[in-house]
Amino acid sequence: MLFKRLHYQFTGLCALITMAILALFSVLYLSVSERTLWEKHTLSFQHDFDTLRTSLEQQPALTHSFLLRMEQTGGYMIFLWDNGIPLSFNRLESHTPYLEQAQRLYSEYRALTTTPDNVRTADLYLISCTRQLNSGIGNIYTGQMSALEKAIALQKGEGLTFLLLSPNDAYRERLWRQRIWFLLLALGGFGALTLFAYLFTGRLLIPLQENQKKQLDFIHGASHELRTPLAVILSSVEARPPHFEDIIRTEALRMGRLVEELLLLSRLDARRLRPGEYPAASLQLIEPDTILLDVFEALEPLAHAQSKTLRLTLPENPLPRMKGDADKLRQLVEILVENALSYTQENGVISLSLEYRSARELLLRVQDNGIGIPKEFQDKIFERFYRVDSAHHSKNHFGLGLSIAAEIMRLHGGSIEVTDAPGGGSVFLCRFPI
Ligand code: ADP
Repeated sequence: MLFKRLHYQFTGLCALITMAILALFSVLYLSVSERTLWEKHTLSFQHDFDTLRTSLEQQPALTHSFLLRMEQTGGYMIFLWDNGIPLSFNRLESHTPYLEQAQRLYSEYRALTTTPDNVRTADLYLISCTRQLNSGIGNIYTGQMSALEKAIALQKGEGLTFLLLSPNDAYRERLWRQRIWFLLLALGGFGALTLFAYLFTGRLLIPLQENQKKQLDFIHGASHELRTPLAVILSSVEARPPHFEDIIRTEALRMGRLVEELLLLSRLDARRLRPGEYPAASLQLIEPDTILLDVFEALEPLAHAQSKTLRLTLPENPLPRMKGDADKLRQLVEILVENALSYTQENGVISLSLEYRSARELLLRVQDNGIGIPKEFQDKIFERFYRVDSAHHSKNHFGLGLSIAAEIMRLHGGSIEVTDAPGGGSVFLCRFPI
């Protein structure tokens, strides 16, 4: 539940941030692109206005068909006034919606050109561009006229005045089409980003989730294991059977051992930064064969007492030293040998050996001819509190030994695995990288 909420919150946050960035860039790009579109549009209008004006000037007689043809080429509307009188062409049906506007523009133009200050050049023409309508108006002179004559004619309101109107419907349609495309793309992008954020944060949370589950399992296992000796102690205190002090001592020792193992595991967990990563301070140059000899000498009497044989095989030439934690490695060998002793019947044989597999790998092998481990459990036995058959084990087995061994191997950057021994029993193989 907590992780689900965290997942949604992370997704929301990630999606929001990426969307904000995407939206910002989209708007920026859109505004730049709209401005460019508008500039191109007005420039092309100016250019068309000049072309039309020149071709009108060069035309000896203005016929309707000529004007209509010009209108059609650019989707324009042309209005003309000859000495202030509108031509009949202005009253075409297609012009009606714009006639009033054209008349107003003409009056404004006239008012401007009759003011002496504003007539600077005889070629005066005005262009105004709005999102709705582009317009250009100017005087057309036919025949040869000096600049002065042109200026005088303009001021008097003589000659032909030419007004070009271009409703910007097509431009606005293009603009809106572009905006809608952008919106659709942005919405698609938002959807994809949200999905990506959901999947990405989901993956991010997996290790946390797994870690939490492991911790809960660990606490559950530990409480479960502690409950039994505690219950025995409490019932012994109440019922006081014969030798109840011995029972309490045995159970307390058992609890003590369990607590020791739990502490060791939690210490190993705390040191594990990444698989294979080991705090440099704990690494020393050690002699692996000496460690094996120590464990062998310590446990051989125990094996003998249980009528079992413990054998040690070391290479003839002394092994070079390697980097490791001597205490932890001793503990690893002890766990494996003690397990082998526990799960082997009387007269069983346990062999310990150490050899170089290659220039890069050192192999520790602990083999027994005991009860063996069924294939389906061979992976599971390294999990915490896992026991193949918990009912048949002595009270000193909590199912933590092999998980401690696996942690020690991980800290040395190595690996541990188990397989069946050729004649029955199990072989534990520990590979150390060099
Ligand atoms: P435990 O404290 O129960 O021995 P371990 O983590 O050391 O816990 O081992 C987990 C389980 O793996 C044991 O309960 C046992 O069932 C099985 N196991 C470990 N070593 C051997 C072995 N040498 N032969 C057979 N079974 C073994």
